[in-house]
Amino acid sequence: MTQVSGHWLEDRAAQALLSALEAGGAKAYFVGGCVRNALLGLPVTDLDIATSARPEAVIGAAKALGYKPVPTGIEHGTVTVVGGGSVLEVTTFRKDVETDGRHAVVAFSESLEEDAARRDFRMNALYADRAGKLSDPTGGLADIAARKICFVGAPDERIREDYLRILRLFRFAAQLGFGPEAIDPDALLAAARLSYGLRHVSTERITAEVLKTLGAAHPLKVLGALQGSGVLVRVLPGASLPVLQRFVMLGGSATPVARLAALMAFAGHLPLRLSKKDRRLFDMLRRFAWSAESAAELAYREGAEVAQSAVVLRAALCGGEPSFAGLDAAGKAQFPLVAKDFPELEGKALGDALKQAEQRWIGSGFTLSREALLDEK
Ligand code: ATP
Ligand code: MG
Repeated sequence: MTQVSGHWLEDRAAQALLSALEAGGAKAYFVGGCVRNALLGLPVTDLDIATSARPEAVIGAAKALGYKPVPTGIEHGTVTVVGGGSVLEVTTFRKDVETDGRHAVVAFSESLEEDAARRDFRMNALYADRAGKLSDPTGGLADIAARKICFVGAPDERIREDYLRILRLFRFAAQLGFGPEAIDPDALLAAARLSYGLRHVSTERITAEVLKTLGAAHPLKVLGALQGSGVLVRVLPGASLPVLQRFVMLGGSATPVARLAALMAFAGHLPLRLSKKDRRLFDMLRRFAWSAESAAELAYREGAEVAQSAVVLRAALCGGEPSFAGLDAAGKAQFPLVAKDFPELEGKALGDALKQAEQRWIGSGFTLSREALLDEK
């Protein structure tokens, strides 16, 4: 196979930018996840472009087309180009010159082969030109055909340059649906041997990989390999796979944060950096699972979906079958009173009265009518 196709290849902004860069005498290709996923028949979610043009030239070409260049990682040669409804990550060809184990230190390059050599996995070093014609400088196509994940070059060396690649190895095995058997045995050994190096990697980067791994359709086998290789305990001490296993088996939510709450149900501390919204959900699910709080009340306050996750997590921890009875109705229930129903009250007294009435109403299974609540007031 020397050709790739798909809607993503026809992306107007990408096509215009690739043409403009080529017209300026540069080489320019689609690269990374879009090419890999298209070859695997998986959805393409973002467009990465590699070019021999320097970042200033990329910025100039984007502006000339009326697109907005954002220098998101300009020191590493990355410019994000926004326009025509598309977001393109455009990175100048690079070669590794030096490394500190956290970030590869890179220099710009004119050569596609050099650029391929500094990428992590062979299947991630596939390039497609504007017409979809492939360049495969490292043997990524054969890996894709065999569903194998192999480093470009020696695993030990590549991991020492950037220890995050350990987690990316497992993440792709899960996300692409390959399973742990796809991981090259030498890469797995190197990952196990060098897992201590993950302590040099920023929490943000680790968090992103962990969440992507957990978001895979079937992450359990890969997580088992992650544990077996001693990597899991480095990034998530206290993680409990059996709880996550039961959570998945009982039909728990596939959202990464819900799965994380199950995985970390016994852990004291979560050494990841979640967004505020995710952190709130994580804390809520764990608190609920260990408490005697009412699932219906949680559904009323946070929605039926959150309550379902919480109920499944509780069952995964404490045994028994999860029951979703009444959660949908509770999720839609509307408290019938408002502040105006208490014209004689204001400030804290008003807040307290509303809260008390709301508790009575929740206690009644959301059935007490407005009139009944006002009668009792
Ligand atoms: P997806 O976007 O689906 O997560 P992707 O392969 O596009 O997958 P990105 O993180 O967007 O992953 O990175 C784009 C490309 O950049 C990769 O395919 C790979 O070639 C290269 N790359 C990303 N991170 C690293 C890294 N830590 N070391 C080496 N190469 C990397
Ligand atoms: Mg990508």
